[in-house]
Amino acid sequence: MYSVKTNSEYHLETWQSTQIELRTKLGEVVYKNWFEKLSFSKLENEAIHLTAPTRFIRDWVLNNYFQTLLEAVNKFAPSISEIVIGLNDQKAQSVTFNNNNDSVGGLARNDSYISKNVEQEKMQMCEFYDFSLDPKYTFDNFIVGDSNILAFNAALNAANGNMRISSIKTLYIHSDVGMGKTHLLQSIASYIRANNNAKVLYLSAERFMHLFLKSLKSNQLIDFKERLKSCDILLVDDLQFICGKNATAFEFANILTALSESNKVVVVAADVSPFQLNLETRSKSRLIGGLVVDITPPDFDLRLKIIESKCQIQKANIPSNILHNLAKNVTSSVRELEGALNKLIAHSSLQNIDIDQQLVKRVLKENYQSAIVKIGLDQILKSVCKYFNTEIEDILSKSRLKKFAHPRQIAAYLMKELTNKSYADIGKALGNRDHASIIYFTKQIESKLTSCESLKIEIEQLKDIICG
Ligand code: ADP
Ligand code: MG
Repeated sequence: MYSVKTNSEYHLETWQSTQIELRTKLGEVVYKNWFEKLSFSKLENEAIHLTAPTRFIRDWVLNNYFQTLLEAVNKFAPSISEIVIGLNDQKAQSVTFNNNNDSVGGLARNDSYISKNVEQEKMQMCEFYDFSLDPKYTFDNFIVGDSNILAFNAALNAANGNMRISSIKTLYIHSDVGMGKTHLLQSIASYIRANNNAKVLYLSAERFMHLFLKSLKSNQLIDFKERLKSCDILLVDDLQFICGKNATAFEFANILTALSESNKVVVVAADVSPFQLNLETRSKSRLIGGLVVDITPPDFDLRLKIIESKCQIQKANIPSNILHNLAKNVTSSVRELEGALNKLIAHSSLQNIDIDQQLVKRVLKENYQSAIVKIGLDQILKSVCKYFNTEIEDILSKSRLKKFAHPRQIAAYLMKELTNKSYADIGKALGNRDHASIIYFTKQIESKLTSCESLKIEIEQLKDIICG
């Protein structure tokens, strides 16, 4: 049915770029399990046509990764709004997904739904239970350390039913972005689905709003409310997006009240504390009155453990000095740390090269940038002096002896390379010199670097010492 010959090279390239994007974003395991097995058929009008080897893979991808896949395709082909996945078996029906009929998302799990009529689809509208659960978010994959143990234990308590029998019925987890809130909330949902019969519903705040507005438009509001109120445990992620005094916030408050009054459990995550939420007092005080835990940034040990675990999951064999280097330098969030690792793995496997410090430096330039900003001029000066075994005063002095002038020029060069400081600032730090001297020093080093191998080595070694 699909002929590769009819696709232009451009279309195929779009798919190949999408694959790289997915691989980087989702990691090797998820990519290999679901996306590597899809083959590209064509781009036509506003649809991308793919082929899956089995019904299961087709449905899993559409149910769990539709949005991710569409976003990845849109990076390279912004006009695409539909994903059509056919099966290798020519007789089998293909399934189409687009942003407007995403209710099909909850239905594609079962092929009998494919032929159901629109009315039936509408009735199923709120059945999104599986839609955004990511199978990689489990308690087993969550690495615990000082900064997240409270949140982890509280989430486990919610999952194993302890909260249902305790007097505290709401759990509020907050942290900066990328610290594991979504991972924990989805772990609760997956755990409950696998281990007991409680009715659990996981919704991002965005999805909550989307379903609410959709049900409002299609006169299904009562059904929407009933479904939410019938949950034993409701999980709402990124609550900060539900804010203000609008209809959605009001409805959320109603549902929260109804669930709390009937002894049901509500777990929410947000990137602000409940005190900072822009919600009406009724919801806020209910949430503040429950259990509130935060996740603080992981320390080096936890970052290292997390990155080692991510490597194990992906079966990636990366030397431990490189993992140390990543854990030391990528400090802003676990998401950034994981993204850095995925980027490395993707580059190494696509270019078929080993992961070494060179590749780390090249690929993670942006990640290092944040570490670079934190490097002080003092730190560079001290490292250079130590490396050349000279005294700071000699470097700062006016002496033109080569044994002082050489390290001085290198210090100026590194200060310019590794910080955002101006020539004038660097001049001040290097013995109150003017900016023209610093420009001269850095130009000297730059021109020597093109031919002098030993200078290159000195600079590389010094950068390693300074950046860690
Ligand atoms: P948040 O919801 O707080 O913004 P996420 O839950 O999306 O953060 O986490 C970002 C990424 O970091 C996810 O891939 C998640 O699996 C990972 N992550 C965060 N904390 C941990 C942890 N303690 N152990 C393992 N992975 C973690
Ligand atoms: Mg999140």
